[in-house]
Amino acid sequence: MAEFVDLRSDTVTQPSEGMRAAMASARVGDDVYGEDPTINALEASVAALFGHEAALFAPTGSMANQIAIQISVPPGEELLCDADAHVVTYEIGAAAAIGGISTRTWGPVGADVDPDVVIDMIRPAGGYHAVPTRAIAVEQTHNRGGGGVIPLSTLETLRAAATDAGLALHCDGARIWHAHVTDGVPLRTYGALFDTMSVCLSKGLGAPVGSLVVSSAANIERARVLRKRMGGGMRQAGVLAAAGSYALEHNIARLAEDHAKAARLAEALAPFGVVAGAVRTNIVPLDLRKSPLDAHALAAAARERGVLVSVLGPRLARLVTHMDVDDAAIDRAVEVLPEIFRR
Ligand SMILES: *Cc1c(COP(=O)(O)O)cnc(C)c1O
Repeated sequence: MAEFVDLRSDTVTQPSEGMRAAMASARVGDDVYGEDPTINALEASVAALFGHEAALFAPTGSMANQIAIQISVPPGEELLCDADAHVVTYEIGAAAAIGGISTRTWGPVGADVDPDVVIDMIRPAGGYHAVPTRAIAVEQTHNRGGGGVIPLSTLETLRAAATDAGLALHCDGARIWHAHVTDGVPLRTYGALFDTMSVCLSKGLGAPVGSLVVSSAANIERARVLRKRMGGGMRQAGVLAAAGSYALEHNIARLAEDHAKAARLAEALAPFGVVAGAVRTNIVPLDLRKSPLDAHALAAAARERGVLVSVLGPRLARLVTHMDVDDAAIDRAVEVLPEIFRR
């Protein structure tokens, strides 16, 4: 029984009994030798979900993103992405520090990316005057963009532009499952658009650890080397992959419940004019610029009443729903949070 209603992130979930049982009975082997049957099965099934040839299990989404980006962008060359993208905000400068990769950003505009703006930023390869653009990264759903979902038509336009310019298109799909559930776009349809993807098992799907890089067989062979270089070669990690396989089997369709809970929170807070944009998935961004409460004051008051809220900036806070906040917990948050704004 959680003492707090923890709405800070969907990373805080505990593995369920069923998931723990799957982990305990997993067959394992040394994955650096390619001998962990549970990891091999997870990689094959995730590749198939997205219609790609291969996938690679990685300890974190950050490592999966950085591997994917390094596959497509050589040192000294360039990746384009949103200014609020996870790859340039929350990965501690890894693209530059580890990959030697230059990044240039648009926005931040979250899921409202305008393909024409991105296309105008592309610099052709050749010559020695300017940094050549090698890849574009999008984020689905968009984390700092309030869980927004990039429309399929936008992604199709970006795909065509990337192909025309000879660029790779990467999707940070940590929460691609949420986009799939809310927009009804098949995972294979998303898969067909991207050269590389990263997908997380440890967010809404509720596994304790794990992400995958999804791409062609040739790219995943390179990814295996890059993962080892970054210290991500794991041994009998099938106990973790078993949690991931369990999560894929049991926890995708139920994300609709988390979206409904987020909608309830957004509805309860709408009268205070603090909900930033339309809530489409499991994230409720709170823009407090016009509120008497700043983000720290809100978080402190909510904590006192048993609700945990994330502070993303002085006047930006965030609520995230997940499988460990049940309806009773949302009832409590829906009571407590408006009271704080009413005071
Ligand atoms: C959580 C997240 C990741 C991966 O984060 P790790 O903590 O490294 O697993 C990547 N992209 C987005 C958009 C995320 O929200």
